[in-house]
Amino acid sequence: MASTGVKLIDIAVNFTDGMFRGIYHGKQCHAADIPAVLARAWASGVDRIIVTGGSLKESREALEIAETDGELSCLDAGCFDYVLLGAFKVFVVMCLRSCDVLEFEESGDPEGHFQALLALAKEGIAKGKVVAVGECGLDYDRLHFCPSDVQKKYFKKQFELAEAVKLPMFLHMRAAGEDFCEIVSENLYRFPGGVTHSFTGTAEDRDKLLSFEKMFIGINGCSLKTSENLEVLQGIPAERMMIETDSPYCDIKNTHAGIKFVKSVWPSKKKEKYEPDSTVKGRNEPCLVRQVLEVVAGCKGIADIEGLSKTLYHNTCRLFFPQDLDASADAQLESASEGSEGFDWLVMETWTLSTLPASEKVWEISPEVMV
Ligand SMILES: [Zn+2]
Repeated sequence: MASTGVKLIDIAVNFTDGMFRGIYHGKQCHAADIPAVLARAWASGVDRIIVTGGSLKESREALEIAETDGELSCLDAGCFDYVLLGAFKVFVVMCLRSCDVLEFEESGDPEGHFQALLALAKEGIAKGKVVAVGECGLDYDRLHFCPSDVQKKYFKKQFELAEAVKLPMFLHMRAAGEDFCEIVSENLYRFPGGVTHSFTGTAEDRDKLLSFEKMFIGINGCSLKTSENLEVLQGIPAERMMIETDSPYCDIKNTHAGIKFVKSVWPSKKKEKYEPDSTVKGRNEPCLVRQVLEVVAGCKGIADIEGLSKTLYHNTCRLFFPQDLDASADAQLESASEGSEGFDWLVMETWTLSTLPASEKVWEISPEVMV
């Protein structure tokens, strides 16, 4: 599948999941294949990937995976091409997801656990790899894993982490709109901006999230299952949206309402008949974020899919890679003085936080973040 001019960032990839090591329900079905998955992503117009860390252990693993993205030949001797294509394109968010926050208490030393997360985040920031704190939030569909009072207690605590490292937040809200929005509004001053990913909420939830000026909404296959989901999606302005796969989960299935807008398909094989050049049936992966883009475009009646991809890309850089927006503006100034032409669209952008009128400056990014 050719990239056809779109430029995409998949903001949610669970590369620490066993399926990317070929393990399904505890059974090894094929070899680990992140290099092949990345190669398909880069060939499909995906420009960067953000890997989620859901526990301290997962966050550590996610950072290790992100660090290999420039050295993929170490993982697979046959993937020399990926070495160049994949350099410095995989980033990480790290924290404890709602159903994992029991870790704080089970560790017997919640403060020590917090300090371990903070130290890991700082290490990842120094390596240029950690771009947000998350995923964290409230998931009331998983109360059997962690009761709501414990989820709330540690969700509040996680704003401390964002405040300490001055990074945006990567959030998850499921069946918990009221409590989630209450806690976010109490802590707005502590983080520079955020995205509520894997959004499956109601129109009311959507409007509450959009009322926070510095909040974006992340859409994946789980956000596109029913006609009600698509109606809610229509009310999210493209300027407040990001797209993701949440792979290996949340793929767009044939039974989903959004499927009618999907145009791009990749060859796929069952996991038992795995081939490195095909996707695996039922396992989502980053190249398929293109399908999410197509459903968003179709559902919102947007014919200019490249234009939509630019808007979503820009939103994502604005939150997670603000230094690149500044760099692109600088490059444009230089090119103007040299009278040269032919820069790609990102270089043509002029928007930076510092040149925005105050009314549009929805948050301030601290200079320390611009590493
Ligand atoms: Zn999530």
